[in-house]
Amino acid sequence: MGLLRGAASVGVRVSRRTIATTGSRSQKQGVGETTDIIPNERIRNLGISAHIDSGKTTLTERILFYSGRISKMHEVKGKDGVGAVMDSMELERQRGITIQSAATHVAWGQTEINIIDTPGHVDFTVEVERSLRVLDGAVLVLCAVGGVQCQTLTVERQSRRYGVPLIAFINKMDRQGASHERTLSHIRTKLKHNAALLQLPLGSEGNFHGAVDLVDNNAIYFKGMFGEQVETGPVPSAMIDSAVQARHELIGCLADVDEEIAEFFLNDRSPTLPQIKAAIRRATITRSFTPVLLGSALKNVGVQPVLNAVGEYLPNPSEVKNYATHNLPNGDIEKILLNPARDDSCPFLGLAFKLEAGRFGQLTYLRVYQGHLLRGQTIYNTRTQRRVRVARLVVMHAQELQDVNDVFAGDICAVFGIDCASGDTFSSADNKQLSMESIHIPEPVISLSMRPADKADVDKFAKGIARFTREDPTFKVNFDTDNRETIVSGMGELHLEIYAQRMEREYNCKCIQGKPKVAFRETIAEPIHFSYTHKRQSGGAGQYGKVIGVLEPLPPEKYLNVEFINNSYGMNIARQFLPAIEKGFLAAIEYGPLAGLRLSGVRFALEDGASHSVDSNELAFFHAGEGATRQALAEAQSFVLEPVMAVEVTMPLEFQGTVTGGLQRRHGIITGQEGSLDIVTILAEVPLNCMFGYSTELRSSTEGKGEFTMELYRYAQCSTATQEELVAKYESATTQGGRKTKAKA
Ligand code: GDP
Repeated sequence: MGLLRGAASVGVRVSRRTIATTGSRSQKQGVGETTDIIPNERIRNLGISAHIDSGKTTLTERILFYSGRISKMHEVKGKDGVGAVMDSMELERQRGITIQSAATHVAWGQTEINIIDTPGHVDFTVEVERSLRVLDGAVLVLCAVGGVQCQTLTVERQSRRYGVPLIAFINKMDRQGASHERTLSHIRTKLKHNAALLQLPLGSEGNFHGAVDLVDNNAIYFKGMFGEQVETGPVPSAMIDSAVQARHELIGCLADVDEEIAEFFLNDRSPTLPQIKAAIRRATITRSFTPVLLGSALKNVGVQPVLNAVGEYLPNPSEVKNYATHNLPNGDIEKILLNPARDDSCPFLGLAFKLEAGRFGQLTYLRVYQGHLLRGQTIYNTRTQRRVRVARLVVMHAQELQDVNDVFAGDICAVFGIDCASGDTFSSADNKQLSMESIHIPEPVISLSMRPADKADVDKFAKGIARFTREDPTFKVNFDTDNRETIVSGMGELHLEIYAQRMEREYNCKCIQGKPKVAFRETIAEPIHFSYTHKRQSGGAGQYGKVIGVLEPLPPEKYLNVEFINNSYGMNIARQFLPAIEKGFLAAIEYGPLAGLRLSGVRFALEDGASHSVDSNELAFFHAGEGATRQALAEAQSFVLEPVMAVEVTMPLEFQGTVTGGLQRRHGIITGQEGSLDIVTILAEVPLNCMFGYSTELRSSTEGKGEFTMELYRYAQCSTATQEELVAKYESATTQGGRKTKAKA
């Protein structure tokens, strides 16, 4: 019996960097000692995704334990009150959903694995997108009893969108009713993956204790108090036939997608062990094959082989193509393939994918995509063009930090004290014009007023708001000066509710929230020409500015845009006044004439104008731009736009009728259906205004088995009834208030 390679690494952390003098207690090396740069081949940036309760947290914790990063295991939501290491937020623990992605780093044998926690909840799509962008491969955890569940479909769809290669891990093999065969068939039929088992279980349910490795052709046992001793032996004789058959099936699945294996298969010859492993790796990386492993994280069975498989089959950073964008002066975008070499031959480029306010100040998580970053180096935020100095560079283990002196392309690290927003790109001096394709940030679609319940808490409230808006670009805040209240906007009801709760828990500031409001907009129906002169000549310096042009509607696909163009010729208006005219236009479209909503889907096209050699100045043209827009709006036919969401609801087949009916009652248009056998996904377009309380409805109409996600699809003209309601509300507010008040969401 021999030890598997991974087991040898328990308690030993092989470090690869120069450890800084302020190293944490987990450092195992001498101060300032330099080690060789770890090559790309030994690095994996890994995500772990799962349907809630499949055991993702338990698995992650076992990984930290076996790789020596934690010395003691405790159960998730454990009685010791400590909880799993990855779940760092109090609220997260209570809700049992992972809201924020934490990154951690473990060494497994020769492989250095960065684990990026991927949150699964619908209202945190930006978090999900960010974490998917920075990882190169993922483990999809499934429950051996539940198989493919609704959220499994959702996370699979997300990983498909980002082309993330997957390994499947069938967890909870110890549970009554566990079936690897059924779960495998789910992966094949519901997720439509070309998947095959790499292992068969030894024992079943309560007696499950190990696995037959179909690739290495041996049996694996997990001994010791916590399954930390991995031992191998011959395949038990009773399992030999089924193992041969399952291995044949594995090679058949590979032959379907890999030419080299197909040759062997057709000629009835057996590939060698390295040939099989190489084929699994090739096919996994191209997402044409999904290797399936099994185990029980809770019972400490089968976790180490998952780590081995991550090293063997998932891509290293050099096997994933990453691009930066270069915005050219003519408006074109050039895509630049980044060099994954782990040296200083190329300029540094990195992406800030997450911010966290920690005990030691703001922590910015970076994924390095090119070049080399040194502690003490000055880098540039390519969005703001500001210089920042990297005073402290760390790699993370959940809450624990390890100081390092340098990081290279492919690494995940964090820096302290850098002021930036998530999604910002950092570069060295010679790369300042580049940006990593910026993460797609959806427009917030819902807003509500929020204020501290106790007036004495305003400082805490302001602190919390400042931090949340920096960390989460989809959480926006503005102050409504008319109603003197803070309006927070976000991606859904739950999204905003979470922040209200975090305010209470983390800042000890209880909040009062108003009713959620949808971000309606106004737009115009047809182009309106204008000619407007702003003139003031009574006393002192005069003001003079004249603008001529047209205010025109944009096509429906640009309903969220606002544009300003200059089509004027000659010198009637000096170029220096154009920004002032644009500012005037933007100020005027804050409140539309119909329902007091902000305008969008409009373009201000300047065609001509006039100026005065003495009396024309920026202020005069600001007023001219503002007055011209108001004049045009007063004449224009306007209508109200509303956000329409692309809604995806996944549920067991028996609830399909109820769910479809429910969506139609909410004025949804069913646009498609996906899925197979007993789980279906309905795709629909539904006005956001009709989606209030949908999670509660879905829960009760599907016995808690339904899941839904929604994201902004487009803005569209709202129904006459909704428009009339908004107009009536606005009119009554303006007559009561005596002056126009904002109705803007
Ligand atoms: P997550 O929501 O995916 O992070 O799942 P957790 O790791 O929080 O696990 C959910 C529940 O399933 C907890 O009560 C775990 O103790 C339990 N659990 C996790 N893994 C296993 C397993 O392999 N077998 C059994 N029987 N229970 C497990």
